[in-house]
Amino acid sequence: MSIEVVAVPDFSVEQQQSPSAPAQQNVVEKVNLLGMSRPQMEKFFEDLGEKKFRAGQVMKWIHQFFVTDFAEMTNISGKLREKLEKIAEVKAPEVVHRNYSKDGTRKWVFRVGDGEGSLVETVLIPAEDKTGARKTLCISSQVGCALDCSFCSTGKQGFQRDLNQAEIIGQLWMANFSYMEEVPVAERERSVTNVVMMGMGEPLLNYDAVLNSMRIMLDDFAYGMSKRRVTLSTSGVVPKIDQLAQDIDVALAISLHAPNDELRNELVPINKKYPLEQLISACQRYITKDGNESSRKHVTIEYVMLDGVNDHPEHAQQMIKLLKNLPSKINLIPFNPFPHAPYGRSSRNRIISFQKTLSDAGFVCTIRQTRGDDIDAACGQLVGQVADRTRRAEQWKKKIAAQGEIIRSRG
Ligand code: SF4
Repeated sequence: MSIEVVAVPDFSVEQQQSPSAPAQQNVVEKVNLLGMSRPQMEKFFEDLGEKKFRAGQVMKWIHQFFVTDFAEMTNISGKLREKLEKIAEVKAPEVVHRNYSKDGTRKWVFRVGDGEGSLVETVLIPAEDKTGARKTLCISSQVGCALDCSFCSTGKQGFQRDLNQAEIIGQLWMANFSYMEEVPVAERERSVTNVVMMGMGEPLLNYDAVLNSMRIMLDDFAYGMSKRRVTLSTSGVVPKIDQLAQDIDVALAISLHAPNDELRNELVPINKKYPLEQLISACQRYITKDGNESSRKHVTIEYVMLDGVNDHPEHAQQMIKLLKNLPSKINLIPFNPFPHAPYGRSSRNRIISFQKTLSDAGFVCTIRQTRGDDIDAACGQLVGQVADRTRRAEQWKKKIAAQGEIIRSRG
């Protein structure tokens, strides 16, 4: 688990320290409460000698009222607030870049560490559906990704590290908070309505942090989201799909992208470890376990349309065969090319014809509307550009500084 409930600091020992002791010995590393699930926060308060219900109170302040200053948590005693100020904090990842598209899509780039590439991105995609205005937040789970799918901009950046719970839930917190700040009061009724764990990284390879973050999303003391509105998308880490089915009730999406093993080995290399037969069986188990639960009635199949690669009529026929015993909804995604991408986007006609073949065979098959084209919508693309800009700015600063040194030494 990425976040540990840190033992309560022993204030008596701290007070007994000699005044001449080095300053850093008195520095208490603060616990970030932002990423704690309810059981974790209950344990935190119990360890402090407090009642468990404090966890619910504090979670409401953090996730529903966006309060980060303990002094403002007025239903908590002054003594406890003072104690919390000393040992804890509520800290979201830092926003280093924002991009808002003309179509309402918003992208944020967060810094999650000191390294040059410690950036992740989060996208908010507004849309209308039969339930009204939907705002879907696509959340990242890792810095970069190790799985190196050949069509993916994030995969090209390599893997750096897992995000911790505060960094994952912090993306939802910040998107809601920024929405509350920027949108006029009269239009604020619905901020983020849906979450997809489909951003940078493979969520099932950062299992505990992602699981606990989704628990916070579903918790009535935090975001209280419906389990049908929280979706985990995986490239196919089969054993973890089974574990997920035991641990939480959320919707499942599979990044399929190819209807046969040969092509999928090339596009989604984890397929070599967990081939299609195993993946489809795991999806069937995910559905059948709690068939009556609406979040598990079907699996969403994501299929990126790559020109001349996976968009032939025979691929559509192979899909029909592959998915015939899996209750599923298919989402065709027009590819978003990024610089140096080895693929192009399938033509509109090709995509429509692929959709028709699947629809005629009885599948619910939609084509994802391309959104945010004016703000680098391909996953991982904006992070790459911000990192490039940061690197160029650093190089420029170093160059200027070096020139200054030369001028000074000449003077
Ligand atoms: S598509 Fe997903 S799993 Fe594949 S490299 Fe990109 S982020 Fe990783």
